[in-house]
Amino acid sequence: MKIPLNQDGVSMQDYSSENLCTWCSGCGDYGIWSAAKQVLVELGIKPWQVLLCYDVGCHGNMSDKINAYTFHGLHGRVIPFAAGAKIANPNVPVIAFGGDGASFSEGVGHLVHAVRSNYPITFVLHNNANYGLTTGQASALTWQEQAMNSSPNGMPERTLPSMDFIFSLQPTFVARGFSGNIPQMKEIFMQAIKHRGFAFVDILQSCPTYNKFASHKYLLDRCYDVKDDNHNVNDFEAARALAVADTSERIATGVLYQNEEVPNLYENLLPRQGRKTTAVEEVEIKKIDELMKEFI
Ligand code: SF4
Repeated sequence: MKIPLNQDGVSMQDYSSENLCTWCSGCGDYGIWSAAKQVLVELGIKPWQVLLCYDVGCHGNMSDKINAYTFHGLHGRVIPFAAGAKIANPNVPVIAFGGDGASFSEGVGHLVHAVRSNYPITFVLHNNANYGLTTGQASALTWQEQAMNSSPNGMPERTLPSMDFIFSLQPTFVARGFSGNIPQMKEIFMQAIKHRGFAFVDILQSCPTYNKFASHKYLLDRCYDVKDDNHNVNDFEAARALAVADTSERIATGVLYQNEEVPNLYENLLPRQGRKTTAVEEVEIKKIDELMKEFI
């Protein structure tokens, strides 16, 4: 995809907001926030050249902790907004951030169609395996039998096998990272932003306040980079096997799968083919004064 590369003058300072972060001490949001800003700077993208979309959740508070064009949407609905914005102006890189609660429950339908349609956007899943903002309720990705505030006797339902689910949809980009590893997140985000279609990026995020079962240390002890095992990112079956493997001992991270051959949704839209202008540039400003007089 086309990335604006204006290396001159863009710095971390450009992305800094005067609003104070209110996340708990040790929250993985800090790492993801830092990695996202750093990679945008390294790509030479200025704050006014990118759209960052946030779902509702603790991570969503990032929308006013970063100086850029941001959107903070309704719970579970960040993907449709991000996709619509991208189609309106495909020259702007669009990154959508969502939590595991919204993305695999209220918004799961949008996630399915994002993968199926291959929207040309990056989706970063803040996967802390609970609804942190609403004080530690179990999500579809909370481990079964874990005691949470909404299920003090242990979550009775099975945990949704999220990676198996994503791979069943024939994705074109799947990566997994860990909120405590900023250099690796930067590498992943860099490749995801440049990907032709929908990039699904699962970041395992520590939530020390409510997630006591997959702590920062738990993740740190288990995560390894598939690059070190010479993994072939174009091998769908090998990637799927790594993604769905038992994570109790080792957790495969890094870019797991990428397929650049599949056209994205915009490329498949016949009315857009051959056009030099974007839909945003084509919007006609119409005066509605005369029309409004009919209703006054
Ligand atoms: Fe972070 Fe969890 Fe605190 Fe939310 S509740 S700010 S996810 S540590």
